[in-house]
Amino acid sequence: MIPVSKPTITSVDIQHVTDAVSSGWVSSQGPYIESFEREFADFCGVRHCVALANGTVAIHLALKVLNIGRGDEVIVPDLTFVATANAVVLAEATPVIADVRFSDWCLDPMSVERLITPRTRAIIPVHLYGHPAAMEELRALAQKHKLKIIEDAAEAHGANYRGHKVGGLGDCATFSFYGNKIITTGEGGAITTDSDEVAERARFLRDHGMSKDRRYWHTEVAYNYRMTNLQAALGVAQLGQLGSFMAERDRILESYRYHLAKHGVTLNPHLADTRPVNWITCALFDDVSREERDAVIARLHKEGIDTRPFFYPISALPMYTRASGPVSEDLSARGMNLPTYPGLPESDIERICQTLLRLIRK
Ligand SMILES: *Cc1c(COP(=O)(O)O)cnc(C)c1O
Repeated sequence: MIPVSKPTITSVDIQHVTDAVSSGWVSSQGPYIESFEREFADFCGVRHCVALANGTVAIHLALKVLNIGRGDEVIVPDLTFVATANAVVLAEATPVIADVRFSDWCLDPMSVERLITPRTRAIIPVHLYGHPAAMEELRALAQKHKLKIIEDAAEAHGANYRGHKVGGLGDCATFSFYGNKIITTGEGGAITTDSDEVAERARFLRDHGMSKDRRYWHTEVAYNYRMTNLQAALGVAQLGQLGSFMAERDRILESYRYHLAKHGVTLNPHLADTRPVNWITCALFDDVSREERDAVIARLHKEGIDTRPFFYPISALPMYTRASGPVSEDLSARGMNLPTYPGLPESDIERICQTLLRLIRK
């Protein structure tokens, strides 16, 4: 079976984790946390990184840090992983679901603008499948209406928008280091920001709201959202390989493009002035229904090729049911994610493409 995704774990990763576990610093104190935070902040070109337990709590904490909660509305894209919307609900705010656009499959600024009300407090653009969202237009809207921006960069480590890395394009950004993300810490997440106050408040809230200079003196009900030193050790090792992971993922996308584009299959978007990262290769088919696409996925699985359908629109899920954005619904039904991980051999890509083209023609 060719998996759709798998983590790249090398001897460097194993050495780092072994070192961390042998040192006895297995929980959330220890030298790797600080190294990981400093190195990931440098990588993103921002002043601060606050390492956390996963990408979902990173979004939740970002909302809390920005003081967003009951009675507030937060605009999220219809096409994203469910955690983006769930985190808003967990913060007791109301997710308002905007459509995405065809050019980059990310939040459509025109759809966002139509949904802004006096209660709107923030926008969460998602850099979907590694393509940066329309940050300039969204930032203009945020400035005009005094809104905060939290980038959900869980799928876009290292992507670049108009000369700037994602992670530093809003008030703060959130990342995930889950096993299928571009770098992994097993489970893990982070908030990145240029703001000293945001970083300080995030550190405070991730650690039970404990006073910095008075042990066991807690001044607010807060969270245990910390990352462990074990996870951070893996993160440091992964970060050292991120450049090569990104290059491998580019190679894989180019190869898929070579085999599929001439047959009319649309692959990952790539707008001028952006440098997306290929978190996962996307194939979008003309004239297929959701059922036909799902049948092809099942047949591929029988032939030893694991793929994924695009996310359902958030608005289609039972707890959010409302009218879907037409673009989100259309992309969601016709899109498929293809195996993408460093080291995926060219011969496998060729076999995947040949099998896919044969099945999709039927
Ligand atoms: C993976 C992901 C998350 C959640 O990250 P976890 O670490 O799995 O909690 C949030 N948003 C998006 C867009 C993701 O892809």
